Amino acid sequence: MPCLFQAKAMPTDKDTSSTVADLKADIRQFVQERDWEQFHNPKDLAIGLSIEAAELLEHFRFRSDSEVAARLQDAGFRQKISHELADVLYFVLILCDYLELDATTILAEKMAISASRYPVHRVKGRNLKYTEYDAEE
Ligand SMILES: [Mg+2]
Repeated sequence: MPCLFQAKAMPTDKDTSSTVADLKADIRQFVQERDWEQFHNPKDLAIGLSIEAAELLEHFRFRSDSEVAARLQDAGFRQKISHELADVLYFVLILCDYLELDATTILAEKMAISASRYPVHRVKGRNLKYTEYDAEE
C-alpha cells in the first residue's frame, strides 16, 4: 500500500500562516455568538470529541485498506473526512480553551513522553505498544 503521506498535497498557506491561538479565537467567537458557553463543561466537551472521532471512524468501518485508498481519491469522500477531522479539531481546541491548556505545550509535552517510550533505535519500523518492547528485554 502506498504511503498516504507522500501521495497527498502539502498543507495550505492557512496552515502555515495561522496560529493555534487564531483557531481558538475563531471557535470562541463562534460559541459566544450562539450563547453556547452555557452548555460547555469538560464532560460534555469530551463526549462531543469522542462522538466526532467516532463519526470519523464510521467512514472507514468495514473498508479494506485498498477500498479506503480508492475512496480517498474521491473529492466528496475527502470532504466528508475533512469535515469530521474539523469537528474533532474543534472539540480538541475548545476543550483546551475551556481547561486553559496551551495546546502547543501539551502536545510537545506528550510528544516528549512518547519519544522516551519509543526511542528510535528501539522501535524504528515496528508498531508495538511501548509496554511490549519492555517485555522483550
Ligand atoms: Mg461530525
